[in-house]
Formats: sequence, C-alpha cells, structure tokens
Amino acid sequence: TFRVAQRLADLPPPATIAMAQRARALKAEGVDVISLALGEPDFPSPPEAVEAAYAAGRAGDTRYPPVDGTIALKDAVIAKFRRDNGLDYARNQILIANGGKQIIFDAFMATLDPGDEVIVPAPYWVSYPLIAQMMGAVPVPVACQETDGFRLRPDALKAVLSPRTRWLVLNFPSNPTGAVMGPDDLAAIAEILRAYPDVLVLSDEIYEHLTFGDRVHASLAAVAPDLADRILTLNGVAKAYAMTGWRVGFAGGPAPLIAAMAKVQGNATSGVCTLAQAGAVAALNGDQSRIASMRDTYARRRDQVVGALRAIPGITCANPDGAFYAYPGIAALIGRTTPGGLVIDTDVTFAQTLLEEAHVSTVPGTAFGVSPHLRLSIAASDDQLASALDRISSFVAKLR
Ligand code: PLP
Repeated sequence: TFRVAQRLADLPPPATIAMAQRARALKAEGVDVISLALGEPDFPSPPEAVEAAYAAGRAGDTRYPPVDGTIALKDAVIAKFRRDNGLDYARNQILIANGGKQIIFDAFMATLDPGDEVIVPAPYWVSYPLIAQMMGAVPVPVACQETDGFRLRPDALKAVLSPRTRWLVLNFPSNPTGAVMGPDDLAAIAEILRAYPDVLVLSDEIYEHLTFGDRVHASLAAVAPDLADRILTLNGVAKAYAMTGWRVGFAGGPAPLIAAMAKVQGNATSGVCTLAQAGAVAALNGDQSRIASMRDTYARRRDQVVGALRAIPGITCANPDGAFYAYPGIAALIGRTTPGGLVIDTDVTFAQTLLEEAHVSTVPGTAFGVSPHLRLSIAASDDQLASALDRISSFVAKLR
C-alpha cells in the first residue's frame, strides 16, 4: 500500500481547499453554488502585465532564471518597497518566489529545527501553522480578541514568547479577520521584541493596499528600523494586482536569511517562471491607480456584506478594516437544528450544511483557530454577494 512520509501523514488537509473541492464537485453536478471560500480577486490582471509576459516570450526570455529572481524584478521590488513602505533594500536582500506562500516555505525550511516554536496570532491564515508543522516545528497560537478588532496585544505576545521561539508571524491586514495594526500597535509589539533578540519576524503584508476608510497600512520594518535585521517583509502581486495565477511573491529581509532561503529555493524550483517575472515587473512599475479602484469596490462590498450579516439574528460581525474577508461569529446558532433534523454542533457542520443545503461555500473558523466563526470572501460580484447573503439568511431562519 502507498505510504506517505510521517510529516505529511501528521498534517490535516487545509480546510480552505477541502471546501473548495466539495463546492467544485457540486458545481460539476450542475448545482448553482456561490463560492465565497477562496481569497481570490475577481478582477482581471493588468493588461500591461499580460503584454509584458507575451513580449518576454517572443523575445526569447525563456531560459532558466536566476534562482533568487531576475535583476529587473528585484529592482522593481526594491522600488516598490521604497515607494509604498519606506523600506530600503539592496538586491541581495530581495528574494523572488513562486507566490508569497513559497516565501513562507523557504523561510521556515531555512531556519526551523524540530521543536522550534512559531508564534501565530489567531485567527490565522492556515498556511503558517501547517508549513511550520511540516518542518517539525510547533505552531503556538496566541488569541486576538474580536472586541479588540482582532489586533495582537503586547501582553498576549509576552505570555507566549519562550526560549524556543524562532518566529513571530504578523499578518496585517489579516486573512481571515481584516484586522489592521496601526503604527502605534506595531510599535508596542516591537518594544516587546527588543527583549528577545533571537526571534525573527515574518511580516506578511500581502493585503497592504486593501485598507478601508481612514485606516492605512504600516510596515513593521519601517516602524521599528532597529529590528530590520530580523524582519522578513513578505508581499506579492497576487492580491494587489489580481495576479493569483502568476505565482509571483517576494520578500525583503536580512541578506543572510535571504541567501539561506535562496538555497532552499535552488533545490526546490530553480526559481520562478521568466514570463511571470516579466509580467510582475510590468505590474509593479505600471499604472497603480487600479489598486485604488479595487480598494473602493472592496470597501463598498464590505459595507454591504457586514450590514447584511449583522441583520441576520444570531450572527455577529466585526467590521474588517482591510483585506477582503468578513469573519462573522455564529455562537448563537450552535446547537440549533435544521428542518431535516441535523444538529449544528460546530462551525464545520454549519459550513458543510450551508454548502449542501443553501449552496454557499464558506470556510469554518475552526480552520483559522478561532470558532465558531465563518470566513466569507468578499472578492465576488455584488450580485453573487447579494444572493449568497439571501441564502445564508433564509438558511439561518429555518434553523430551530
Ligand atoms: N499571505 C496571506 C495572508 C494570504 O492570504 C495569501 C493567499 O491567500 C498569501 C500569503 C499567498 O499568496 P500567493 O502565494 O498567492 O502569493
């Protein structure tokens, strides 16, 4: 019989993907499923990126790339960090990877030994603890409170730091909560970190451009430049430029860490597709005004979705300040029964039953470490969102 390695056998399947698979299967049967499960912008990629990829192919830019990224893309990333984040990196402090996800994989593979701890504020994006576990490390969740806008508080962080802590992960704006940490919030975290010189920080800023109202993103390495030699700033083109399928992510950080990560990547992939890198250069150097119009669209949808969720009896919802998700609480609905007699005992059952009976796919909060919640992506059309919320509302109304 087929046997997988222990490190894989120990790993739960990512719930985001499991729900998407079930939704796809239903769709294939002809069921009209509205998918709010995946974090995927519903906009087209910038035309200049598509053109640049074509041009690169026609020009014969089709050989192996440098493992750590093309000079052109590294320079575009350096310019981006300077322009958007006030950060100054040299070329040997930049790594280009197959998506932001590979940056995390590279970083953890390069630095984690079995038993090392990775602090992950919860609710968290599923990949941080899963990738840490793949390295034999121990994810240590630290709870962020809904009443606190799901920000990480210095006291909560202090309580979980240990001599085994190797990484602290920060992801603001947050997937799944949309929480944003302002400069003061980050400064308070930095102050704690000064007492722990061996702790590295992964600052995943992939949603930086998607903040609403007067909330603006701040980069940890800019707020605390004295810690920059142990901060890895992660970003990519997936969310800001609606380029999820291109698989281009990048990071800036201390040269020795970047070199170690490039070594991992050299053994894993030999670098990133040259055509995709050419497209990413065009996106980063091109027209940035689309970002603002995407942000306005998400802000409008956020108001629409949060308003509709709050109008459903039994559902609570914090107002996300950024990213493109809502993270409603469903505590009051746990223990209720469907007309068919099924007891909704957890958010997993709720999400599965909602998919089977109301044909809306979401992800249960269990996947992100804080229950009972659901994560809804608002990266869907206004019409889809309106019908999805109608369906959720009538599904809930039928629970007894
Ligand atoms: N970081 C966060 C918080 C994300 O939500 C995602 C994608 O869902 C990523 C990183 C990875 O993005 P990609 O690998 O598509 O660049």
